[in-house]
Amino acid sequence: YAKRKALKHYQIFNTQLLEAFKANIEIERDLQQALKSREFELYYQPLMDLQTQRYIGAEALIRWHHPKKGILYPGAFIEIAEQTGLINAMGQWVLETACKQLNLWQHKNIDLTMHVNVSARQFFSSQLYAQVWTLVTRYRIKPKRLILEITETELMSDIEHATKLCKELAELGVGLAIDDFGTGHSSMRYLKQFPISKLKIDRSFVMDISSSRESREIVSAIIAMASALNISLTAEGVETKEQEAFLTQSACHHAQGFLYSPAVRESDFSHLLTLQQSLIN
Ligand code: C2E
Ligand code: MG
Ligand code: MG
Ligand code: MG
Repeated sequence: YAKRKALKHYQIFNTQLLEAFKANIEIERDLQQALKSREFELYYQPLMDLQTQRYIGAEALIRWHHPKKGILYPGAFIEIAEQTGLINAMGQWVLETACKQLNLWQHKNIDLTMHVNVSARQFFSSQLYAQVWTLVTRYRIKPKRLILEITETELMSDIEHATKLCKELAELGVGLAIDDFGTGHSSMRYLKQFPISKLKIDRSFVMDISSSRESREIVSAIIAMASALNISLTAEGVETKEQEAFLTQSACHHAQGFLYSPAVRESDFSHLLTLQQSLIN
């Protein structure tokens, strides 16, 4: 019996693995087509200033309108794009689309900072600097209005190259944010060495603010550190008033999360901005 049970488990495991494998191959095949067929769209999630309770920026987050599967989130395809190298073309499209949008905001005198996620492969590609330079020039972007986000783990995977790139980007005036901060292992020394403009505290710490003293201590420590290094700080994944209160009281600068808004299409984001304007005026 045990043997048969083991065999059954093996078959289930195998079938699941095979299904996952097939799904990935499908995604990979469909990704090739997606850019050409204009199936990607950038959604925007507002970043909030905790003191003034006003929007100060937006993070561009990619969505894929898959012809058969419906809307897909980056978790379902970014890794595959990264492995296959498709991330380069996709990342270029993301950067350009975000810069076009930023250009429109600048025209309307909307003073927002645009955050754009870049993956490791894109960040460390020899083209990145030229890409960013070209877009900033073409779309007349005020460089400090553009912030590239890279995760802590990815940034630290090649410290020498990262240091060089950070310096180049800083000279250009474009900002750099370390995403998912606290989940990797950067030391104070590196943080001092990189010209970083922003840290984003990972959602996993924010999530536990109300329930875990340890998480509160970690968040406080990160806030103190950022302040000592003169780096601006955003808390990710803020969902409750309680979390917000703790962050505000601890002098965290900015927050982002479902409490304010999820990432929405551009038209809905414009609506959010109009709503805020009408509340203030
Ligand atoms: P991230 O850069 O850390 O982005 C934050 C993620 O948390 C987003 O998920 C956002 O929708 C989600 N989020 C925001 N507020 C809350 C909240 O209050 N609660 C919860 N539960 N979630 C919240 P999303 O859009 O699925 O993106 C996942 C990751 O995919 C991003 O993490 C980023 O690393 C990557 N990504 C997204 N867009 C791009 C892109 O254009 N290029 C690259 N290379 N990566 C991207
Ligand atoms: Mg991000
Ligand atoms: Mg993050
Ligand atoms: Mg993330």
